[in-house]
Amino acid sequence: MAEEDLAAWSSALRAEFPIVTGHPGLAYLDSAATAQKPRAVLEAVQEYLTTSNANAGRGTYPWANRTTNLIEETRGRVKAFLGDPDPDASSVHFVSGTTEGLRLVALDWLTHELRDGDEIVVPFADHEANVSPWLEAVAALDRRGTRVTVREMPYQLSSGDYDADRLAGLVSARTRFVAVTHVHHVYGGDMNVHRIRRAVGPDAVICMDAAQSVGHLPVSLEALDVDFAVFSGHKALALPGSGAVWSRGVRGAPFAPRGWSGTPNTVGIASLGAALDWLDRAGPARIGRWTVELAARLTDGLRTLAPYEVVGCQLSLAEGSPVQQRHGIVTFRHRDIDAADLGFILFSHGFMVRADGLCQGRAGENRSSVRVSLHAYNSRHEVDRLLEVLAELS
Ligand code: PLP
Repeated sequence: MAEEDLAAWSSALRAEFPIVTGHPGLAYLDSAATAQKPRAVLEAVQEYLTTSNANAGRGTYPWANRTTNLIEETRGRVKAFLGDPDPDASSVHFVSGTTEGLRLVALDWLTHELRDGDEIVVPFADHEANVSPWLEAVAALDRRGTRVTVREMPYQLSSGDYDADRLAGLVSARTRFVAVTHVHHVYGGDMNVHRIRRAVGPDAVICMDAAQSVGHLPVSLEALDVDFAVFSGHKALALPGSGAVWSRGVRGAPFAPRGWSGTPNTVGIASLGAALDWLDRAGPARIGRWTVELAARLTDGLRTLAPYEVVGCQLSLAEGSPVQQRHGIVTFRHRDIDAADLGFILFSHGFMVRADGLCQGRAGENRSSVRVSLHAYNSRHEVDRLLEVLAELS
């Protein structure tokens, strides 16, 4: 699709987001935290609540049965959307978001799989939600006398992704579990997860935090060859407090969170199905191309403004770089203006951005920054206006 067509396509999609069109003076630039919802999702929620609202798996009357079916259908929908290579073997468990999902994998599954002397690999510069659950699991095992060694995932500073070669030298036959992230929530880069399987061998379980990729770009579990993929529905256009853990189910015991689980978030699940349908229609590949283009536009503009430093891999700022792409996420600092102050200043001009430490794990940035994160409904005009305001603060 030609560049102009992509802009027209985005502008047509933008009209489907009532909160965006209803606030023409505001620019929502925080979709990595929570994305806005298209009318189709809002209508699906209303439709569910006004035709079928009931508890799942408990009643025998039609509303309850419809709710039970809705949940089963949405499980299938998640598998299809993620390019699940073997939907008969895999499972989908609904959660409130990536944080809860990763913690369930850690505490309800990993603690039962690991044995004394095993090793795991943790990405300490990724989101804290993909760091602390694994350390909590190791601490819980330690209290039972099971010693597990934690290795730090190596990163390549030159390209900003994982260093698969160093990882290959770090793992051993005792490496049972490797945590990774698909797209980095601060730097916006693709972490090249498809290289991890070769580095860690056929037996290690790979768990992927897909919070910043599902709904933003095509995700193919077949190509990525991971065992778990966890994402937040609210970052993928569904309601807040929704999300899923997908488990391949071929390495280790089947993933089944322990204990009695109560009433599921049926409305969130209804919204997730509608959001995935909407994303399929819009086209994840197009969404990816558009948000990469907007992020590059912002990055290029920031390079010309002396007081700003774009955080992350500097190679991705270079013309023709192999890691040029930022997937809709650009994080930066002003030399003299504190990030929180910059956030307030930007809001006084109508821009809603994230401005803080960005929940990065302990090997991450230790200074606050401003993060702009974009989605299909953002426009070139918003990016250009933002750059104008940032230029005035130079
Ligand atoms: N992982 C990544 C990469 C994220 O960006 C986020 C949220 O920003 C999370 C995990 C946590 O997601 P949630 O707050 O939806 O549980």
